[in-house]
Amino acid sequence: MQANPAPALKPDRQSLSVDDARRAILDGITPIEGWCSVPVRTGLGRVLAEDVIAPFNVPAHDNSAMDGYAVRAADLLEDAETRLGVVGTALAGVPFSGLIGKGQAVRVMTGAVLPRGADCVVVQEITRTENSEVIIPAGQRSGQNIRRAGEDLAQGAVALPSGKRLGPAELGLIASLGIAEVKVRRRLRVAFFSTGDEIASIGSPLAPGQIYDSNRYILFGVLSHLDCELLDMGVIPDQPAALEKALVDAAASADVILTSGGVSVGEADFIKALLQKLGDVAFWKINIKPGRPMAFGKIGTTLLFGLPGNPVAVMVTYYQFVLDALLKLMGVAPLPERPLLEAECTGHIRKQPGRREFIRASLHRSEGGWKVEPTGAQGSGVLRSMSEANCFIVLPESSANVAPGSAVQVQLFEGFS
Ligand code: AMP
Ligand code: MG
Repeated sequence: MQANPAPALKPDRQSLSVDDARRAILDGITPIEGWCSVPVRTGLGRVLAEDVIAPFNVPAHDNSAMDGYAVRAADLLEDAETRLGVVGTALAGVPFSGLIGKGQAVRVMTGAVLPRGADCVVVQEITRTENSEVIIPAGQRSGQNIRRAGEDLAQGAVALPSGKRLGPAELGLIASLGIAEVKVRRRLRVAFFSTGDEIASIGSPLAPGQIYDSNRYILFGVLSHLDCELLDMGVIPDQPAALEKALVDAAASADVILTSGGVSVGEADFIKALLQKLGDVAFWKINIKPGRPMAFGKIGTTLLFGLPGNPVAVMVTYYQFVLDALLKLMGVAPLPERPLLEAECTGHIRKQPGRREFIRASLHRSEGGWKVEPTGAQGSGVLRSMSEANCFIVLPESSANVAPGSAVQVQLFEGFS
């Protein structure tokens, strides 16, 4: 359990900007404590708890960057061909054991240790051989086609910094250093549940007026990408006693609780009273669409995000507010940049100034550059248009209707997972 100071909670507000809400959330978060050593492959997706230091130079030796001949540049004529005697071969993994003397060359393969005495590699394609001699054209330079020892990484240098999340490149880099185990932060424990008398779990028949739960599946999906320990607590009915028990249980065992539903006007009141009794939780109205209502705070040391009920609002608020909070809690540093790209909008979008809107859309390349097209019905419960989308068009608070042909800002889903 992390021992963070309580986040700087603002009192309930009529309206909070997306940026202020993000800042208020992120500022109060410090990484969880606790780490373990794991074999390199098990570290995939985990966050380094300490720097990985290069135990030796990478590459370990000066070596050839090309197939060709290792020579002494001083032996070469400046403006005519030079004939050198070929005295041996150096393969990757099988060095030439001798010393190259005056007038001599050694055939080298890419990656082979540079033979002693050589200071230049001449690529094979520009040479000719006659018997046991190689003919080198003019114009070669000392140092060419050589990878120097320690060029990629000097012994003792930080190969990977603490806070780095391990992906395929990092696994390869760690392995190249001969390191078998890495120190990573422990997994984040995230409890989540859906709320609502009308929500049924798949597997049980729908009573009149009920709908199946989407949100736990969405949260399972996004959280699985973060390699968290998941505590799926099911669907909790809109009953204070059941909600209180779920929240108390979740707070006892998780670092973070994610709930969905029950934070909109009308529904919020008893949940508000409950959360204020159990912890320090504020109800926000954020200038965002979809996803205006959200609760955020703490129960004990456990962070709580009370997300809206509509499935697309869950995804939007998760990506804009929760994801980076979880990454920061997991110890990821620095947090990833989330670039906004510019593209030409091909559709018409109705909007009133006031909120920052996230429109599900499809970005594609066509003649004349990148175009972006809204993917259809934008109701905050419509997951189909979310599934067809590969990005959000992000319309700023001040924006009104968007006409086809306008330049808009686009936030890619790539990197969200
Ligand atoms: P609420 O804020 O609880 O009133 O929820 C807002 C809307 O989202 C309502 O139409 C709910 O039926 C719907 N909703 C809430 N939770 C879920 C869920 N887990 N899966 C699908 N829809 C939901
Ligand atoms: Mg509800």
